Amino acid sequence: MNFLEERIVKDGIVKPGNVLKVDSFLNHQMDIGLMEQIGKEFKRRFSDKHITKVMTIESSGIGIAAFVAKEFGVPMVFAKKSKSINIEGEMYVAEVDSFTHKNRNQVIVSRKFLGPDDHLLIIDDFLANGCALQGLISIASSAGATIEGLGIVIEKGFQIGGNVIRNLGYHLESLAIVDAMDAETGTITFRPQPDRTAEATYDI
Ligand code: 5GP
Repeated sequence: MNFLEERIVKDGIVKPGNVLKVDSFLNHQMDIGLMEQIGKEFKRRFSDKHITKVMTIESSGIGIAAFVAKEFGVPMVFAKKSKSINIEGEMYVAEVDSFTHKNRNQVIVSRKFLGPDDHLLIIDDFLANGCALQGLISIASSAGATIEGLGIVIEKGFQIGGNVIRNLGYHLESLAIVDAMDAETGTITFRPQPDRTAEATYDI
């Protein structure tokens, strides 16, 4: 197990409805030492890429993306959820369906902070059906920016997002890929990563 898989096994909670709760260390209370490790691991995985900016979506992506941006020594910009209607012109806009809240948000990034010279590393906490990443990809493409890669902390490999994004040809790195989880037994199965050779199942 890598450091993140170990932490998921220790402190993650499998909820009904295919939701993994990691509130105690990732997206409510945050373990800052772990955030630093995550930042360094993304820097290692994308070390051959020329990155000018890290981009994420509010709110859970922000803390993680900040640590990644620090490792690359570049700014971080996050797409904001917005209700305003009179924003075309100043803003890039995309529609994003929320997996956890079961609603649809308009997300925006100011044209001041993204443009054709940018080489982006897109970061988020979870990848489920891929809606959040598709929204960020759409914003990047409106800006004419280059997407150098996408980094996810926890990918739920049994949902379609990972396949969709990889099939679009993007370099996607997920620090932990959950291939199966069971809310009744608390069992979680991780996909093998390069530093591990066999699939492994754990009771959490
Ligand atoms: P997607 O857009 O890929 O369907 O879902 C990704 C977004 O939904 C992430 O930004 C994350 O905030 C949220 N999300 C999806 N699945 C989970 C989950 O199992 N646990 C938590 N905590 N958030 C999730």
